[in-house]
Amino acid sequence: MVNFENDTAIIVVDVQNDFSEEGTLPVEGTKDLAKEIEALLNKYKTMFKAIVFTRDWHPKDHPSFKENGGKWPKHCVQGTWGAGFVPPLDKFVKENRVLIIDKAMFNNDGYSAFEGTNLDHFLRYIGVNKIIVVGVASDYCVRATAIDAKNLGFEVELWAPFTRGVWIETDPESLRKELEDQGIKVIDNFKKIEKVKQR
Ligand SMILES: [Zn+2]
Repeated sequence: MVNFENDTAIIVVDVQNDFSEEGTLPVEGTKDLAKEIEALLNKYKTMFKAIVFTRDWHPKDHPSFKENGGKWPKHCVQGTWGAGFVPPLDKFVKENRVLIIDKAMFNNDGYSAFEGTNLDHFLRYIGVNKIIVVGVASDYCVRATAIDAKNLGFEVELWAPFTRGVWIETDPESLRKELEDQGIKVIDNFKKIEKVKQR
């Protein structure tokens, strides 16, 4: 799976407590995902030009919340437990050189790591050409981050097993097709937890 030059960054999207099984907007499988991403990073961290962690970092009255007419339950409010990284990634972030990107701080959905941030400038400046995207949710913030990265001219790989989705408006097959049609390389398969559980 891993074959890259020293021009590659990995973006870990929104692996935060409110998206874990104990949070207000749970994405099934996120606690396991945090462990899997930590193992991946520990194995390959010296090979990445940059390790970027994004976090949804909403003001407490953000328009994306249902109580304000939005789509989602209240989640990832700045400075709360819910906005923290899911263990053991919380520890990883403190002990390694990573860049944290706060997003969706204002009146925007902020699904993408590149929306309202200067992440693309930073990555270009240090010589990144290729971006690997992992995290949650596959069909929202991971999707939007991968598409924006591609549109900004980066080579993009989405490592599907290192994501988890909510699959409300799309399914893994449609998402894969949408991303591949845009020139994004989808590595391996999305895990659809619900199906696994029903067996
Ligand atoms: Zn949010």
